[in-house]
Amino acid sequence: MSLLLFAKIAWAVGVVTWFVMRLPFQRKARRKAVADARHRNARDMTLLSISTLGLGIIPAIYALTGWPAGASYPLSALQVIAGVAVFAAALWLFWRTHRDLGQNWSVTLEIKDAHKLITNGVYAKVRHPMYSAFFLWALAQALLLPNVVAGLAGLVGFGTLFFFRVGREEAMMREAFGAEYDAYMARTKRIIPGLY
Ligand code: SAH
Repeated sequence: MSLLLFAKIAWAVGVVTWFVMRLPFQRKARRKAVADARHRNARDMTLLSISTLGLGIIPAIYALTGWPAGASYPLSALQVIAGVAVFAAALWLFWRTHRDLGQNWSVTLEIKDAHKLITNGVYAKVRHPMYSAFFLWALAQALLLPNVVAGLAGLVGFGTLFFFRVGREEAMMREAFGAEYDAYMARTKRIIPGLY
C-alpha cells in the first residue's frame, strides 16, 4: 500500500469512528425535550453545512478522486504519523466530552428541559472541549491529506462554525445559567487551557 493510500484510509477511519461513536449519544439526546430552540436557526444550520463541507465533503471528494490535483504536494511519513496521533487524540477527547455532557449535548444550539450546566471532567479544563476536539480533527486532516485545498478545508470550515457560533453559544448559556456561567467563564478559557 502506498503512503498516500494509507493516509487517506487513516483519515476515513477517523471520520467513521467519530460518526459511530456519536450515534448512541445522538439517539439519547434526541429523546430529551428542548426548552429553548431560538438559537437553532437558519444561521446555525448554514454554519453546520459549511463545517460539514470542510470536514467531510471536500476531503472525501479529494480522497476518492484526487481533485483538485493542482493543489497536491508530496507526502512525508512523519506527517502521516503526526496526523494519526492527532486524530487519535481528537477521538479520545470527543469520547470524553460526550460522556461528560451526556444528554445536555446537541448538534445545534439549544437548551433542554432540565438542562444541567456541566463544569466537571474535561469541562473543568476549557468551556468548549468538543470544539477543541473538532480543531484537532481539522489539524489531523491537514496532516493526513497532502493537498492544500482538501487539507485546509477542515480548518476553514470548522473555524467558520466556531468563530461565528461560540459567542452566541456563550450568550445563550449566560442567559440560561446567569451567574453560574459567568463564574465558569471567569475560571476557564474557550478551547486551549490557559491560552484561549
Ligand atoms: N461548546 C461545547 C458543547 C458543544 S454541543 C463544547 O465544545 O464542548 C452544543 C450544546 O452544548 C449547546 O446547545 C449547549 O446547550 C450545550 N452546552 C455547551 N456548553 C455546556 C456546558 N458547559 N454544560 C452543559 N451544556 C453545555
